[in-house]
Amino acid sequence: MTKKVLKFGGTSVGSVKRILHAAEIVKKEHSKGNQIIVVVSAMSGKTNELISHSSSISEKFNKREMDVLLSSGEQVTSALMAGALNEIGIKSKSWMNWQIPILTEGEHTNSRIVNMSINKINSFLSEGGVAVIPGFQGISQNGEITTIGRGGSDASAVAIAKIFQTESCEIYTDVDGVYSTDPSNIPVAKKISKISYDEMLELSSLGAKVIQSSAVQTAMMYDIPLQVKSTFTDREGTEIFSQENIDYSKAVTGVAYSKDDAKVTIIGVEDKPGVAADIFEPLGKNQINVDMVIQNISPDGKTTDITFTIKRNDLNKTLKTLKSNDKISFKSLDQNDAVSKISVVGAGMVTTPGVTYKMFRALADEKINILAISTSEIKISVIINEKDTLKAVKKLHSIFNLD
Ligand code: ADP
Ligand code: ASP
Ligand code: MG
Repeated sequence: MTKKVLKFGGTSVGSVKRILHAAEIVKKEHSKGNQIIVVVSAMSGKTNELISHSSSISEKFNKREMDVLLSSGEQVTSALMAGALNEIGIKSKSWMNWQIPILTEGEHTNSRIVNMSINKINSFLSEGGVAVIPGFQGISQNGEITTIGRGGSDASAVAIAKIFQTESCEIYTDVDGVYSTDPSNIPVAKKISKISYDEMLELSSLGAKVIQSSAVQTAMMYDIPLQVKSTFTDREGTEIFSQENIDYSKAVTGVAYSKDDAKVTIIGVEDKPGVAADIFEPLGKNQINVDMVIQNISPDGKTTDITFTIKRNDLNKTLKTLKSNDKISFKSLDQNDAVSKISVVGAGMVTTPGVTYKMFRALADEKINILAISTSEIKISVIINEKDTLKAVKKLHSIFNLD
């Protein structure tokens, strides 16, 4: 007997008809003698709809109430899934975050799961029941409802797999696996049958939303193999696991992109030791995550320009923080929020020289200007103008033989 987590994303539970279809998948797995814990997302579009209700009341909607509001999406699908399973002859029950409880730490709307009680659910599983747990949420030490960040049902599924020590964690979604780039925009994208945690972590944190990056991170940390599968077809999915056994015949495994970055340049800032720290310290203290940083060589030895990138929705906070920072002086600020980040990822890069120049040459051939660059052992990212995004992704996908 195998204990499994089956997680269904928003599209997979996007209507009652789809919930009934997902319940059939659960039934099939259950009838093989497996113990099943189902984790569900809210119906697709539901979380956005709830957020827009809150913002029509206030852009600064109370975060505690936001969590009470947002967690309702997954409560609905949990009950419908358990009810659907009962209807097709499977004993099933849903548990809300506080009933289990799923204990979280951290601030409202951005908490993380730290533990949960397993006894009640384990005894239900051993009686042949299917447990349904809402993704994306938990309860804090002092009993407040929390959520764990957008796309967080993936992280819930992995945390549940870890805490319940299940043999597998299957992520059912609207594509039949992880592709070399987003298949909904680049139809020539190819499915990847096996991918390492490291590569998947880079791809998902660089924009491939098929699986949330913090879910991959937890899976990697505890060596929990993941499978990404389609709810709508029987085709083989993608296995995500540790690095051994993967064939790195290609330098690049995938191309990811995101359109949620912004670029800021501080022009004419003093060029002396300590300035960078004075610029970035208050940003860090304001929870602003800085991604790429470029400092130009100063022509006169006195002043320089510093460019950096941040998440687009941190732009206003960043500009405000810089303007009110009296430890630094500068001539002016330049900002650009119509940029995107394009990244090529591949563990094969480590042993294949020339990937960097090939990427830059390809973008130059398409007359695409590079605004900032960052690299790690297995990825190269560039910031470009947003309007060139798909042109760049298509070109890179093709020159690295992924089409
Ligand atoms: P779910 O609601 O099941 O969690 P998501 O919408 O969060 O599903 O993620 C699935 C989507 O991720 C796909 O529809 C696809 O458009 C997108 N996606 C982006 N990059 C990739 C990629 N490299 N491979 C597969 N899907 C990708
Ligand atoms: N419903 C939440 C969201 O849309 C969590 C998830 O679907 O994973 O972000
Ligand atoms: Mg998702």
